[in-house]
Amino acid sequence: MKIGIRSFTLSLLLVLISGMYIIFANYYFTQREITAKLITNSITNDLSELSYVLSKHIQKNSIKTARALIDRKAANNNYLSAISIFDDDKLILTTDPRFSQFVSSSVLYNNPHQNIYENLHDRKAFQDNINYYERKSRRSYSLIFFIDHNTINKNFTQARERFILLFIFIPIIFLTVFWLAIHKLIASPLEDLRQYAYYQSKIPLPFSIKELEHIRISMVQTFSRLEQEKTDLYNLSRTDALSGLANRNYLEERVIQIIAESERRNKEFALLFLDLDHFKSINDSLGHDIGDELLRSVAHTIQDVLRVNDVVARIGGDEFVIVLTHYQDELELIEIISRIQEKLMKPWQIKTYPIHITSSIGITIYPKDGTNLLSLMKNADIAMYEAKSKGRRGYHFFTKELNDKTQEYIELTNTMQEALTKDQYELFYQPQNNVTTGEIIGAEALIRWKHPDKGMISPYAFIPIAEHNGFIIELGKWILETGIKQKKSWEDEGINIKLSINVAAKQIQQADFVEHLKSLLDKYQVNTSNVFLEITEYIFLHDSKAILKTFTAIRELGIKISLDDFGTGYSSLSYLKNFPIDILKIDKVFLDDYNSTEGAVFIETIVKMAQTLKMRVVAEGVETQEQIEYLQSLKCDFYQGYVCSRPLEIEAFNALYKEKTFNL
Ligand code: C2E
Ligand code: CA
Ligand code: CA
Repeated sequence: MKIGIRSFTLSLLLVLISGMYIIFANYYFTQREITAKLITNSITNDLSELSYVLSKHIQKNSIKTARALIDRKAANNNYLSAISIFDDDKLILTTDPRFSQFVSSSVLYNNPHQNIYENLHDRKAFQDNINYYERKSRRSYSLIFFIDHNTINKNFTQARERFILLFIFIPIIFLTVFWLAIHKLIASPLEDLRQYAYYQSKIPLPFSIKELEHIRISMVQTFSRLEQEKTDLYNLSRTDALSGLANRNYLEERVIQIIAESERRNKEFALLFLDLDHFKSINDSLGHDIGDELLRSVAHTIQDVLRVNDVVARIGGDEFVIVLTHYQDELELIEIISRIQEKLMKPWQIKTYPIHITSSIGITIYPKDGTNLLSLMKNADIAMYEAKSKGRRGYHFFTKELNDKTQEYIELTNTMQEALTKDQYELFYQPQNNVTTGEIIGAEALIRWKHPDKGMISPYAFIPIAEHNGFIIELGKWILETGIKQKKSWEDEGINIKLSINVAAKQIQQADFVEHLKSLLDKYQVNTSNVFLEITEYIFLHDSKAILKTFTAIRELGIKISLDDFGTGYSSLSYLKNFPIDILKIDKVFLDDYNSTEGAVFIETIVKMAQTLKMRVVAEGVETQEQIEYLQSLKCDFYQGYVCSRPLEIEAFNALYKEKTFNL
């Protein structure tokens, strides 16, 4: 059973008051008894005194002469109405003719079971005898004192009224005051505290009771601490610890608001997906501390460029999402984007390291390119990858074509693995010719995907995907083995030509690459001096020490190295000097341009340089006789191109080879 503080104090008070009441009632009844006794005594004293005086008086005088005596007595005693003297029942004298009747003994009787007050209350009169002698015989009159109940009662009534006042009204007032005090000082503060503990809505005003005030203060402190911790946690759950920018949670929250706002105003907004180019290599080479510091600086820089209302969030390693709501048109949007990219391109100084970084941005527009954060982000990511594939440090808008391309990408990703088990890949071979004689001196193996539904898929469509998702490792092993096997069967047929096999950067960086290559050579026992691995010059973007080691190991197996697509990327003379490279492949773009001054200068420079460095040169993408003649004039070694043949299936290649060689 639970008892409230109000009912508890109330019951306590009632018990107290009842106790007090019993004590005071007892006092009251005792006092009443004392008063009754005093009155009774005063009457009986007067009675016995008068009876004595009268008995003396009538020895000399007639009883009738006592009239004045009893009148005086009756007047002096307030409690008496009248005094009468009877001789038996016969009235002799009275102070008041109304009291001429002799009272029966019952009203004179002093009941021993009753107290003095009750006896006084029941009585009408007191009686005594006036004794005298008449002729030696003893006689007596009855002296009767009639009580004035009115006067007596007045005495008691006054006492009763005082009692009622003292013991009924005062406790009630006291009780009320006490109850109000308990209510105001304890019960209602406690209720306030309870409400506060429950809702924490409004802090109760200071209390007068010290202990309650202490509780209130500690509650206020505890709740404000909890509130602070809650806010901290809330902020923590919405911010990115590293950069202090919004995190994905907060981004979601904000984008929901922005979408609602944009709906209301019927206005578009842009969501940008920004990714730093080659951030991983900075992280790997300079360490995570520098990487983190760079990310923080990048975060600040982006924030500085934007307006307060724009949202910037970091949602992963070096990935940022930016939501732009205030721009007039596409032109202004592009201006903002360019500004961000320019600011990020400034040379950074992180600790003592000078760092140069670029960024790629994908752009989606709400609602055209997506109606929720997820689709906007996915499509912006697609656009960002497109920007990256277009050479990085740029931006790209999301388009329908891009989406189709991505769908295609996803489909190819999902099926390219299976295609290997289903034997859908095939190596084609494109002849490489001697510039002077036109003789086929070798072949480059080029992969094709013979898709059952889509037909022949170009390596341009799936090799970059395979490089991206890592499938190139597995596919590369198949290419290498198929190529070497083919080389072996040529040797068996007496066809002694060079074979170039393309190797992706990712593939060559595998720790077991050289080992795998060696196992294939052991297996097929081919003439290694005629095997070339084609590696694009982009390989030098990676850790050059490890690459040098691998190149050297490949050369130790007797295999030679061609630098593919030379001139398109990181052409650096120092690589050519320091790395064991046998052949340079001049990219088709330069051959396309051979009759312009710049194109010619480039080709001539490369050929001369290669000659100095004792390297051979293969000119790629040769489509015309004029190009061949031009190459002849430069004393370039080899060419490869449609002018001789497109890449061919093995049977066709062999047939072409036999025809050409036979004709010569
Ligand atoms: P790449 O290694 O630069 O190969 C040369 C590409 O130029 C080939 O395209 C070839 O068909 C084409 N080509 C040759 N002569 C001419 C010409 O006179 N005119 C024109 N317009 N094109 C010419 P393909 O076979 O489509 O291969 C494209 C790229 O795919 C290759 O470029 C290479 O980077 C990659 N690739 C092909 N096969 C493999 C492979 O087995 N492994 C790896 N890792 N990559 C491969
Ligand atoms: Ca190649
Ligand atoms: Ca090439």
